[in-house]
Amino acid sequence: MTPVLIVLNAGSSSLKFQVFDMPDEAEPRLAWKGLYEGLGGDAHFIVRDTNGAILDERSWDPGEELGHEEALMHLIAWLREHQEGRKLVAIGHRVVHGGAAFSSPVLVDESVLQSLEVLVPLAPLHQPHNLEPIRIVRRRLPGMPQVACFDTSFHQSQSDIATLFALPREMRERGVRRYGFHGLSYDYIASVLKHYDPRLAEGRVIVAHLGNGASLCALQGGVSIATTMGFSALDGLPMGTRCGAIDAGVVFFMLREMKLSPEAAERILYTESGLLGVSGLSNDMRVLRANAAANVDSRRAIDLFVYRILREIGSLVAALGGIDGLIFTAGIGENDAATRAEVASGLAWAGLTLDERANSTGGPRISTGAGPDVWVIPTNEELVIARQTRSVLSAAQTRLAS
Ligand code: ADP
Repeated sequence: MTPVLIVLNAGSSSLKFQVFDMPDEAEPRLAWKGLYEGLGGDAHFIVRDTNGAILDERSWDPGEELGHEEALMHLIAWLREHQEGRKLVAIGHRVVHGGAAFSSPVLVDESVLQSLEVLVPLAPLHQPHNLEPIRIVRRRLPGMPQVACFDTSFHQSQSDIATLFALPREMRERGVRRYGFHGLSYDYIASVLKHYDPRLAEGRVIVAHLGNGASLCALQGGVSIATTMGFSALDGLPMGTRCGAIDAGVVFFMLREMKLSPEAAERILYTESGLLGVSGLSNDMRVLRANAAANVDSRRAIDLFVYRILREIGSLVAALGGIDGLIFTAGIGENDAATRAEVASGLAWAGLTLDERANSTGGPRISTGAGPDVWVIPTNEELVIARQTRSVLSAAQTRLAS
C-alpha cells in the first residue's frame, strides 16, 4: 500500500484539495488535485490528474445543501473508490495564522485546536474557514492524524525590530505585532531557488507573490528578514479586493464619520477594495488588462498596483542592504508579462534590465546583463504542506518508537 495524504485549503465557500503519494523518503508526489466551489449554494466538484485532465466532475443543487462537511465526506468516499493500492494516512491543512506560538507545523490535538481558535480575531476572514475542516475530520474520522501548516511560520526568522509596531507595550503582549503571510509560498521558492541559481539562493532576494492576495518577502540566504504583510492579511500591497497598507486614521473616519459598523468597514477593506475598488470593474488582472486602454479606472488600478509594488520593493531593498535578485510568483506574477515588465522598468535605477523575449514567454530567467537576476518561478504551497505534514508525522513516529 502506498501511503497518501490529502492537503486541504479551505475558504468560506470553497475547499481546494490535492492528494499526494508518499513513497519512502522521496519527495511527496501529486496524484490528484481538485476543488469544491459554491459550497452552501450551487456546489460543484472537479478533480484532475497531474496533467490537468478532468477525471470526475459533479454539481449539486442549492436545495441539496452541500457544505464543507458533506464535501469532505464526498472527497473521502471518492478517494476510497479510486485509491487502488493507496491508503490515506494523514491530512495536512493550510492554516493562515499560527500566531507567536506556532513557529513550525504542528500535529493537531484538542489543545492545539483551541490555541488556533484564539487566533481567529487576528485573521477573521480566513482562520475560521481553515479550522472548520480540522474539526470536521476530528468528528467524522477520529484518529486520523492532522497537521496544521501556517502561512506565518516562515517569517518567524524576522528580527524583533522588523516585527515591532510603535504601539504601547501592552498591545504587543496582546499579540499586536507584524507576523507576515504567504509563508508556504515563500518557503517553496526558498527551497527551489538553489536549483535555478545556487549563487542567488545565498544572496539578497525579493520574492513577489502576486496573486489574488499579494505580498513581497525579503530573503537573505533563503531566510525571511522582512515582508509587506503585517498583523493581518490586509497590510502591504493592494490586492484583488483588499486595500493593502492604509493610514489607520482611515478606519476611524469610516467608523466615526461614515458611521459604519466594524463589520461593514472590515467588509469594505477586505472584499470591496484593491484592484476591484479602484477599477470599479474587477479584481481579476486579466479583465483589467483587457480594459486598460478603454477604461481609465482599470488603468489606474494597474498603475497603483505597480507603483505600490515599486515603493515596497524600495523598502525591502533598504532592509536587505541591496538586491541580487527578484522572483515573480503566483497568478499575476507567473502569468502577467505586462506587470512584470512594468515593475522591471521601475527598477532600472537598481541596474535591472529585462529580457523582453524571455519575459513574454515566461522565462524562467527574464533578466539580462550584470544587474539583479529576475526569475519567474511557479509557486507550490500544497507541496510545502505535504512536505511539512510528512516531516511532522515522521517526527511523531520516531518519538513514539523511542
Ligand atoms: P490566489 O491568491 O487566489 O491563490 P492566484 O495566485 O491563483 O490567487 O492568482 C489569481 C489571480 O492571478 C487572478 O485574479 C488573476 O488576476 C491573475 N491571473 C491569472 N492568470 C493570469 C493571466 N494569464 N494574466 C494575468 N493575470 C492572471
